[in-house]
Amino acid sequence: MRILVVEDEPTLRGQLVEAIAAAGHTVESAGDGREGHYLGEQEDFDAVVLDLGLPMQDGLSVLRRWREADRRMPVLILTARSAWQEKVAGMDAGADDYLTKPFHMEELLARLRALLRRVGEHTSAQWRCGAIEIDTRAARVLIDGHPLALTSHEFKLLALLMQRKGEVLSRTELSEHIYAWDNDRDSNTIEVFVGRLRKKLPPGSIETVRGLGYRLVDVGSAT
Ligand code: CA
Repeated sequence: MRILVVEDEPTLRGQLVEAIAAAGHTVESAGDGREGHYLGEQEDFDAVVLDLGLPMQDGLSVLRRWREADRRMPVLILTARSAWQEKVAGMDAGADDYLTKPFHMEELLARLRALLRRVGEHTSAQWRCGAIEIDTRAARVLIDGHPLALTSHEFKLLALLMQRKGEVLSRTELSEHIYAWDNDRDSNTIEVFVGRLRKKLPPGSIETVRGLGYRLVDVGSAT
Protein backbone atom coordinates (compact mmCIF):
# COMPACT_ATOMS: atom_id res chain seq x y z
CA MET A 1 0.00 0.00 0.00
CA ARG A 2 1.03 3.59 -0.54
CA ILE A 3 1.04 5.83 2.52
CA LEU A 4 1.56 9.59 2.89
CA VAL A 5 3.04 10.99 6.11
CA VAL A 6 2.65 14.74 6.78
CA GLU A 7 4.57 15.75 9.91
CA ASP A 8 6.82 18.78 10.45
CA GLU A 9 8.90 17.45 13.34
CA PRO A 10 11.88 15.83 11.53
CA THR A 11 12.66 13.14 14.14
CA LEU A 12 9.07 11.96 14.38
CA ARG A 13 8.66 12.15 10.61
CA GLY A 14 11.72 9.93 10.17
CA GLN A 15 10.42 7.42 12.74
CA LEU A 16 7.01 7.29 11.07
CA VAL A 17 8.49 6.77 7.60
CA GLU A 18 10.79 4.06 8.88
CA ALA A 19 8.13 2.17 10.85
CA ILE A 20 5.52 2.30 8.09
CA ALA A 21 8.06 1.24 5.46
CA ALA A 22 9.16 -1.62 7.73
CA ALA A 23 5.52 -2.74 7.83
CA GLY A 24 5.80 -3.29 4.09
CA HIS A 25 4.34 -0.08 2.65
CA THR A 26 5.64 2.52 0.23
CA VAL A 27 5.91 5.84 2.07
CA GLU A 28 6.02 9.43 0.82
CA SER A 29 6.45 12.27 3.29
CA ALA A 30 6.02 16.02 3.57
CA GLY A 31 7.25 18.41 6.26
CA ASP A 32 4.66 21.16 5.89
CA GLY A 33 0.99 21.58 5.11
CA ARG A 34 1.42 23.08 1.67
CA GLU A 35 3.54 20.24 0.32
CA GLY A 36 1.39 17.68 2.13
CA HIS A 37 -1.77 19.07 0.60
CA TYR A 38 -0.20 19.09 -2.86
CA LEU A 39 0.93 15.46 -2.64
CA GLY A 40 -2.43 14.27 -1.34
CA GLU A 41 -4.26 16.12 -4.07
CA GLN A 42 -2.00 15.14 -6.98
CA GLU A 43 -1.16 11.55 -6.11
CA ASP A 44 -3.09 8.49 -5.00
CA PHE A 45 -2.52 7.13 -1.51
CA ASP A 46 -4.22 4.27 0.29
CA ALA A 47 -4.01 6.16 3.59
CA VAL A 48 -2.56 9.34 5.12
CA VAL A 49 -1.04 10.07 8.53
CA LEU A 50 -1.61 13.80 9.04
CA ASP A 51 -0.28 15.96 11.87
CA LEU A 52 -2.65 18.83 12.66
CA GLY A 53 -0.04 21.37 13.82
CA LEU A 54 1.84 22.13 10.61
CA PRO A 55 3.67 25.16 9.19
CA MET A 56 2.50 26.86 5.95
CA GLN A 57 -0.97 25.38 6.19
CA ASP A 58 -2.50 23.66 9.23
CA GLY A 59 -3.56 20.03 9.05
CA LEU A 60 -7.28 20.78 9.46
CA SER A 61 -7.33 23.03 6.38
CA VAL A 62 -5.34 20.45 4.43
CA LEU A 63 -7.90 17.77 5.32
CA ARG A 64 -10.88 20.04 4.57
CA ARG A 65 -9.47 20.97 1.18
CA TRP A 66 -8.88 17.31 0.26
CA ARG A 67 -12.43 16.38 1.22
CA GLU A 68 -13.85 19.39 -0.68
CA ALA A 69 -11.93 18.19 -3.74
CA ASP A 70 -13.46 14.73 -3.17
CA ARG A 71 -10.22 13.08 -2.13
CA ARG A 72 -11.59 10.15 -0.10
CA MET A 73 -8.49 8.30 1.13
CA PRO A 74 -8.61 7.33 4.82
CA VAL A 75 -6.85 9.88 7.04
CA LEU A 76 -5.45 9.29 10.53
CA ILE A 77 -4.79 12.58 12.31
CA LEU A 78 -2.19 13.20 14.99
CA THR A 79 -3.36 15.61 17.68
CA ALA A 80 -1.70 17.33 20.61
CA ARG A 81 -2.31 15.94 24.07
CA SER A 82 -5.51 17.10 25.80
CA ALA A 83 -6.68 19.11 22.77
CA TRP A 84 -10.05 17.37 22.55
CA GLN A 85 -11.45 20.26 20.49
CA GLU A 86 -8.89 19.35 17.83
CA LYS A 87 -10.18 15.79 17.68
CA VAL A 88 -13.75 16.96 17.26
CA ALA A 89 -12.73 19.46 14.59
CA GLY A 90 -10.71 16.73 12.88
CA MET A 91 -13.66 14.34 12.80
CA ASP A 92 -15.88 17.09 11.44
CA ALA A 93 -13.30 17.83 8.75
CA GLY A 94 -13.43 14.21 7.59
CA ALA A 95 -10.72 12.32 9.52
CA ASP A 96 -11.23 8.56 9.88
CA ASP A 97 -9.30 8.08 13.10
CA TYR A 98 -7.00 9.99 15.46
CA LEU A 99 -4.07 9.37 17.71
CA THR A 100 -2.93 11.64 20.53
CA LYS A 101 0.75 12.52 20.84
CA PRO A 102 2.88 11.00 22.24
CA PHE A 103 1.88 7.57 20.98
CA HIS A 104 3.44 4.16 20.62
CA MET A 105 4.47 3.30 17.07
CA GLU A 106 2.81 -0.12 17.49
CA GLU A 107 -0.51 1.58 18.13
CA LEU A 108 -0.13 3.78 15.06
CA LEU A 109 0.59 0.73 12.92
CA ALA A 110 -2.45 -1.08 14.35
CA ARG A 111 -4.71 1.90 13.58
CA LEU A 112 -3.27 2.11 10.09
CA ARG A 113 -3.98 -1.60 9.49
CA ALA A 114 -7.57 -1.07 10.60
CA LEU A 115 -7.94 1.88 8.19
CA LEU A 116 -6.44 -0.04 5.29
CA ARG A 117 -8.79 -2.96 5.90
CA ARG A 118 -11.67 -0.57 5.42
CA VAL A 119 -10.23 0.64 2.09
CA GLY A 120 -10.97 -2.71 0.46
CA GLU A 121 -14.52 -2.38 1.62
CA HIS A 122 -14.95 0.97 -0.11
CA THR A 123 -13.35 0.11 -3.41
CA SER A 124 -15.35 -3.08 -3.94
CA ALA A 125 -18.96 -2.13 -3.37
CA GLN A 126 -20.84 -5.41 -3.66
CA TRP A 127 -20.44 -8.91 -2.30
CA ARG A 128 -22.56 -11.99 -2.26
CA CYS A 129 -22.51 -15.02 0.01
CA GLY A 130 -25.27 -17.51 -0.80
CA ALA A 131 -28.59 -15.75 -0.21
CA ILE A 132 -26.92 -12.68 1.31
CA GLU A 133 -26.08 -9.70 -0.88
CA ILE A 134 -24.49 -6.49 0.38
CA ASP A 135 -23.92 -3.15 -1.31
CA THR A 136 -21.55 -1.13 0.87
CA ARG A 137 -21.90 2.08 -1.10
CA ALA A 138 -25.68 2.13 -0.82
CA ALA A 139 -25.49 0.59 2.69
CA ARG A 140 -28.05 -2.02 1.64
CA VAL A 141 -28.45 -5.71 2.42
CA LEU A 142 -30.66 -8.18 0.58
CA ILE A 143 -31.59 -11.71 1.62
CA ASP A 144 -32.84 -13.68 -1.37
CA GLY A 145 -33.61 -10.34 -2.99
CA HIS A 146 -35.56 -8.97 -0.02
CA PRO A 147 -34.24 -5.88 1.82
CA LEU A 148 -32.97 -6.50 5.35
CA ALA A 149 -32.95 -3.73 7.99
CA LEU A 150 -29.76 -3.60 10.04
CA THR A 151 -28.39 -1.14 12.61
CA SER A 152 -25.13 0.58 11.62
CA HIS A 153 -23.13 -1.67 13.96
CA GLU A 154 -24.72 -4.80 12.49
CA PHE A 155 -24.09 -3.49 8.99
CA LYS A 156 -20.38 -2.84 9.64
CA LEU A 157 -20.01 -6.26 11.18
CA LEU A 158 -21.68 -7.99 8.25
CA ALA A 159 -19.66 -5.95 5.73
CA LEU A 160 -16.38 -7.09 7.27
CA LEU A 161 -17.52 -10.73 7.49
CA MET A 162 -18.64 -10.60 3.84
CA GLN A 163 -15.43 -8.95 2.70
CA ARG A 164 -13.44 -11.71 4.32
CA LYS A 165 -15.85 -14.56 3.76
CA GLY A 166 -14.55 -17.94 4.94
CA GLU A 167 -11.85 -16.38 7.13
CA VAL A 168 -12.00 -16.57 10.92
CA LEU A 169 -12.18 -13.07 12.43
CA SER A 170 -11.36 -12.58 16.09
CA ARG A 171 -13.56 -10.55 18.41
CA THR A 172 -10.74 -8.02 18.79
CA GLU A 173 -10.50 -7.58 15.05
CA LEU A 174 -14.24 -7.11 14.72
CA SER A 175 -14.41 -4.59 17.56
CA GLU A 176 -11.48 -2.61 16.10
CA HIS A 177 -13.41 -2.40 12.89
CA ILE A 178 -16.64 -1.26 14.49
CA TYR A 179 -15.29 1.16 17.06
CA ALA A 180 -12.74 3.21 15.15
CA TRP A 181 -13.49 6.19 17.37
CA ASP A 182 -13.91 4.47 20.66
CA ASN A 183 -10.91 4.22 22.95
CA ASP A 184 -12.79 1.91 25.30
CA ARG A 185 -13.40 -0.89 22.85
CA ASP A 186 -15.04 -3.84 24.50
CA SER A 187 -14.78 -7.07 22.56
CA ASN A 188 -17.53 -8.66 24.73
CA THR A 189 -20.17 -6.46 23.12
CA ILE A 190 -19.22 -8.05 19.79
CA GLU A 191 -20.89 -11.24 21.00
CA VAL A 192 -24.11 -9.30 21.47
CA PHE A 193 -23.94 -7.80 17.96
CA VAL A 194 -23.07 -11.14 16.40
CA GLY A 195 -26.03 -12.70 18.24
CA ARG A 196 -28.42 -10.08 16.89
CA LEU A 197 -27.04 -10.28 13.38
CA ARG A 198 -27.29 -14.07 13.44
CA LYS A 199 -31.04 -13.90 14.09
CA LYS A 200 -31.52 -11.79 10.97
CA LEU A 201 -29.44 -13.96 8.60
CA PRO A 202 -30.18 -17.40 7.13
CA PRO A 203 -29.55 -20.01 9.87
CA GLY A 204 -25.94 -21.17 10.09
CA SER A 205 -24.48 -18.16 8.23
CA ILE A 206 -22.20 -17.11 11.08
CA GLU A 207 -20.13 -19.93 12.50
CA THR A 208 -18.44 -19.68 15.90
CA VAL A 209 -14.92 -21.05 15.84
CA ARG A 210 -14.21 -21.86 19.46
CA GLY A 211 -11.49 -19.74 21.03
CA LEU A 212 -10.77 -17.96 17.75
CA GLY A 213 -13.76 -15.98 16.58
CA TYR A 214 -16.37 -15.99 13.85
CA ARG A 215 -16.60 -16.93 10.22
CA LEU A 216 -19.21 -16.27 7.54
CA VAL A 217 -20.16 -19.36 5.56
CA ASP A 218 -22.19 -19.84 2.42
CA VAL A 219 -25.32 -21.76 3.44
CA GLY A 220 -26.83 -21.42 -0.01
CA SER A 221 -30.06 -19.83 -1.03
CA ALA A 222 -33.30 -20.34 0.87
CA THR A 223 -35.29 -20.50 -2.35
CA1 CA B 1 3.49 19.52 14.36
